[in-house]
Amino acid sequence: MASLGGMTMPSRLPLLLTHEGVLLPGSTVRFNVDTPRNMHMIKHRLLKGTSLKSTIIGVIPNTRDPAKDTDDLPALHKIGTAGITVQVVGSNWPKPHYTLLITGLCRFSVSSLLTERPFVLAEVEQLDKLERYTTSAEGVTAEDGELQELSQKFYQTALELLGMLDMSVPVVAKFRRLLDSLPQETLPDVVASMIHTSNTEKLQVLDAVSLEERFKKTLPMLTRQIEGLKLLQKTRRTMPGPEKKVRKGGVFPGRHFSLNEEVEDDDDDTPSLEKKVHGANMPYAALRVCLKELKRLKKMPQSMPEYALTRTYLDLMVELPWNKSTKDCLDIRAARILLDNDHYAMEKLKRRVLEYLAVRQLKASLKGPILCFVGPPGVGKTSVGRSIAKTLGREFHRIALGGVCDQSDIRGHRRTYVGSMPGRIVNGLKTVGVNNPVFLLDEVDKLGKSLQGDPAAALLEVLDPEQNHSFTDHYLNVAFDLSQVLFIATANTTATIPPALLDRMEVLQVPGYTQEEKVEISHRHLIPNQMEQHGLSPQQLHIPPDTTKDIINRYTREAGVRSLERKIGAICRAVAVKIAEVQTDSKTEELTPEGHTQQGAEKAAPPAMPIVIDHRALKDILGAPPFDMEVSERLTLPGVALGLAWTPLGGEIMFVEASRMEGEGQLTLTGQLGDVMKESAHLSISWLRANAKHYQLTNMVGGPDPLEGTDIHLHFPAGAVTKDGPSAGVTIVTCLASLFSGRLVRSDVAMTGEITLRGLVLPVGGIKDKVLAAHRAGVKRVIVPKRNEKDLEELPANVRDDLDFVAAADLDQVLNAAFDGGFPGTEILPERPQISSKL
Ligand code: ADP
Repeated sequence: MASLGGMTMPSRLPLLLTHEGVLLPGSTVRFNVDTPRNMHMIKHRLLKGTSLKSTIIGVIPNTRDPAKDTDDLPALHKIGTAGITVQVVGSNWPKPHYTLLITGLCRFSVSSLLTERPFVLAEVEQLDKLERYTTSAEGVTAEDGELQELSQKFYQTALELLGMLDMSVPVVAKFRRLLDSLPQETLPDVVASMIHTSNTEKLQVLDAVSLEERFKKTLPMLTRQIEGLKLLQKTRRTMPGPEKKVRKGGVFPGRHFSLNEEVEDDDDDTPSLEKKVHGANMPYAALRVCLKELKRLKKMPQSMPEYALTRTYLDLMVELPWNKSTKDCLDIRAARILLDNDHYAMEKLKRRVLEYLAVRQLKASLKGPILCFVGPPGVGKTSVGRSIAKTLGREFHRIALGGVCDQSDIRGHRRTYVGSMPGRIVNGLKTVGVNNPVFLLDEVDKLGKSLQGDPAAALLEVLDPEQNHSFTDHYLNVAFDLSQVLFIATANTTATIPPALLDRMEVLQVPGYTQEEKVEISHRHLIPNQMEQHGLSPQQLHIPPDTTKDIINRYTREAGVRSLERKIGAICRAVAVKIAEVQTDSKTEELTPEGHTQQGAEKAAPPAMPIVIDHRALKDILGAPPFDMEVSERLTLPGVALGLAWTPLGGEIMFVEASRMEGEGQLTLTGQLGDVMKESAHLSISWLRANAKHYQLTNMVGGPDPLEGTDIHLHFPAGAVTKDGPSAGVTIVTCLASLFSGRLVRSDVAMTGEITLRGLVLPVGGIKDKVLAAHRAGVKRVIVPKRNEKDLEELPANVRDDLDFVAAADLDQVLNAAFDGGFPGTEILPERPQISSKL
């Protein structure tokens, strides 16, 4: 440990790698820190430490690009300055960073690095011997005599410079004070950091470990300043104007002759900030607040933590688009064309969006319900939102609300604590730079709630046209008019949208796509887009519709087109590699000496024909298809039936399996079922027991009661996914009926519907998504509750044509339709009586 004027310098120091600015002993410098290593150092050492010693760090200049700081440690400069951290201010705006104020103590050299991650810790050796400076009067040797001469000369030159400067400027006064009070030996470092010197020059001063060398290095810098000032004064004298003394650097065109005001200046660019405040066109209330803050800022020394906070606040205030907006340029006909061009299918949605836009145009107001697109992922909700912005000529900004559970995420943090920042709405406004953008509130159904308040309540205020003209973000603390912002929301399901919020919205359902629609969307949009993104042309890649169908059916199982788009992207990447390889081959070929080209030329010729992706190529690129199992393959034993489920991600097919074994009438249910689904299972068993005789069901011992001497196990595969809801009732009954009768359920039938104890089939929700899922899975017949028949009208014509629908009012009809040739005991009716395939 070395002594530093009563303090001890640790022999191990955490290092701050600085990319700009060089800290010299005796000077105070502000550093902006945002690289991972430095941030870790601050968090682990400076913010955690409690003793004074823990505030001492090593500052090492690092000339490498800060962006590359994340990978291996760059070669470090060999000499650094140990400094004491006077202040740490953290902020998240515009990105997480800290501002450190550090006073340099003495030079050190790095002996060895102890750790490199998460921050650099080094064994160091102190280089400056501070004790010597204070006892300079003792025993003057010849060498010291020369040093004294140098230091005297330096002092005189510094005085000369001072004489040319205006003492009323605070930084000059400070310069004078330091010159008088500091031991002469410390002057080179202090002066080099105060006068205008480049970073390279400061590095040279840092590297000058011997005092003599340091004087020799800094003296020319001082003389240069004096020469420069003399020159300037000469030119000034020839010009009219009373000012003779050099005030501050800003007064002169070139700053070369100024004092470095990095730390010392107190009102550096406040005038320009003030100008900006006046020019920001903000409402009176906001202007008043800004001017008040500005006044406080002017009085604050820069070293106060509050300075940075106030400054950041004012910077945001002047940047906000208080009065800046884009002009709406809505032409309904053009909008229709644009929506049609960008999106295939989704006719109902596009029509409603056009109506909405037309009404907005006629009323010239945005008051009214907020549109909320509800549907599975990847069906184009965000994409339609973007198109709306485009048709209006407005800026577009997406605010992801998934997982937001703190209301300050929406409304900002109060400025009273460190790290406070505005909410996402104000942030969005700053990003787009206008006050009338289209804001897409993505995933409003995934808003959370926590102790930090309810974000939905904050959103309510944002969306309420009666209130949002004076929306107050806690950080801004003044009202901002949001009434010109066009809000659109998206969600996967309405079930989890807070009711009060849902009440403000007009829900537009965006259902999943059929296979044919997906093929069209692929060929019109996804494939051309992906090819363009990967730099491929139609002359290079061709994906035939058959292949697209294969991708849709065997490689994806989704309502939207997101994973389809990813698969197409994967194909494009694979093809891009192939083409690049061929091109490299042909280039290498050009380089080979003549005579050898004959054989290579054939191989290297770029493909004149596009690469066609057939089934084999598809398998090579994407691997074995993950969804290859045919429904029919699973329905080969009695006791399996195919149900249809609705999930926020779209419709799904769902198998129900049952098996029985000797036992005492126990029912086991597996597959993570919710209470409602468990009840459905009990209901089904009860109904079957009550009707066993009628349907000629037998138990394992030959009697009519299915549970006598029998245990039943019902399982719903995909056991990791929680399942609930009443709509599996008919499927469970069918599955059990199959088990007890030993008959196979038809391999091409899927069903959905709630049951009652009396065997009635009640309507259920999500029919459209469920039927689309059945269609995707290649099912031919779908059994739906009679009272859901009207929902089938919403289905695309080709799906209706492909499927047989059985609208069942009771379980008798369900069983009749689910088994080939009907079920024993059901009314034998003429061929497919309830089938309404053509609706
Ligand atoms: P969501 O917001 O519903 O999750 P996105 O809007 O992100 O879905 O859509 C995913 C991708 O699919 C986008 O590239 C989008 O352009 C494309 N897409 C979805 N539906 C259509 C459609 N009907 N026509 C053209 N492209 C579509």
